[in-house]
Amino acid sequence: MPLLSIAPVLMPVKAVSVRGLHNRQPMTHSLLIAGGGIGGLALALSCARAGVACSLLEQSAVFSEVGAGIQLGPNAVRVLADWGLMDALREVAAFPERVVVRDARSGQTLGELPLGARAVQRYGQPYATIHRADAHRLLLTAVEAHGGVELHLNARVRTVHESADGVSVTTETGQWHEAQALAGCDGLWSVVRQHITSGPGGMEMAPRFSGHLAYRGVVALADLPLERRANAVTVWLGPRLHLVHYPVSAGQQMNVVAVVHGRPTANPHGWSHEANRADLLQALGPVHVDALQVLEAVPHWKLWPLNDRPPMTGPYQHAQGRVCLTGDAAHPMRPYLAQGAAMALEDAWTLGQLVQSAGASLDWPVLLQRLAELRWERNARVQAGAIRNGTVFHADGWLRMARNVAMAALGERLLDKPWLYSGPPRP
Ligand SMILES: Cc1cc2nc3c(=O)[nH]c(=O)nc-3n(C[C@H](O)[C@H](O)[C@H](O)COP(=O)(O)OP(=O)(O)OC[C@H]3O[C@@H](n4cnc5c(N)ncnc54)[C@H](O)[C@@H]3O)c2cc1C
Repeated sequence: MPLLSIAPVLMPVKAVSVRGLHNRQPMTHSLLIAGGGIGGLALALSCARAGVACSLLEQSAVFSEVGAGIQLGPNAVRVLADWGLMDALREVAAFPERVVVRDARSGQTLGELPLGARAVQRYGQPYATIHRADAHRLLLTAVEAHGGVELHLNARVRTVHESADGVSVTTETGQWHEAQALAGCDGLWSVVRQHITSGPGGMEMAPRFSGHLAYRGVVALADLPLERRANAVTVWLGPRLHLVHYPVSAGQQMNVVAVVHGRPTANPHGWSHEANRADLLQALGPVHVDALQVLEAVPHWKLWPLNDRPPMTGPYQHAQGRVCLTGDAAHPMRPYLAQGAAMALEDAWTLGQLVQSAGASLDWPVLLQRLAELRWERNARVQAGAIRNGTVFHADGWLRMARNVAMAALGERLLDKPWLYSGPPRP
């Protein structure tokens, strides 16, 4: 019996008939989407493109994203390109020429990975860096332009009820929505996840605190010294810390992230907390002057406690019956492979492909099971890789020395990830 099954008695699901702006076919399949972050909007776009009538429920009063950047590997860019969003991406993203890895104390360059034209040559798509707000707006604009998606704000999903024919949810404001299936794209503290994991598999643990805090800020490129404005992803490695900076906003701003060890904040559910530079510099200890120049130029800092879950252990964590999870709701990860949003985009793209292939004979439980089987191992591999990277990035003592030697010898081979960047795998 699902934990959250205190919803009203489910009415028979009606075949919804919504016509998209571009898609003039009547839509006979329907999907509820809980959460309107990057993952939820991507899923809405992917499924609307495949002819599904979507209702997206977002808890916030407005659609918005926090002020920080994300990297989009060629695998994520491939998804956006497939949706015809390359021109829109080019307007707002930056396309770094290389990844440069340096020791945060000595400043020594440890390794480099060429991106730019080399990424396009190797993977068919560029490596992009983008402000989260721009990525979110790009997807929202595409969803609105496509049509076929009802967007509901102030709609925090509270309960989930699944029957043989469909799924209904109630929201905290007393609305009730129903459709043939439900996708939980409601992030790390997912309510929909409780429905899935309170099923036959039983209860599971809450997300865990990683022991790491991320300070994030953006600075206008013009406010940085000339030699710190490189069109590169620059990564500074530990001990017990790492820093990353890269251009966003079409190269007008530099996004800066500093990860240190620390205690969880009072409200772990809070996505971002006010922070200040003095606390950050104290937590970091001595860092190379080149890194310090960047940190000191950032006008405002926000603090993120970094939580995750252990890597997925089976498809049952992605989908059961008519309910699936995608993005951070399914596989929240540490950001050390820069792939959380990318995996949400890949999940969304894969579901769209499956819907398209199924056509009129779409059977949601079968289709969601297929999605889970296709996605869980790749997502688990990325989660595990991110944890491993955290250990390597923050290494101290002999491990740090071994890392620096290995990086100097193998640089590009260690940094490149063909299995990842050539994705998403075709269903
Ligand atoms: C420091 C840091 C750096 C990162 N860098 C990268 C990077 O470089 N590249 C990358 O790909 N990823 C990166 N990530 C990861 C990426 O930010 C996340 O994986 C991504 O945002 C997940 O998107 P999502 O839509 O699944 O979840 P979220 O972004 O958490 O969105 C969930 C949405 O659901 C809504 N919601 C929550 N509960 C409910 C409910 N009950 N009902 C209705 N709505 C609800 C929320 O308001 C929100 O809008 C980084 C993360 C961090 C913390």
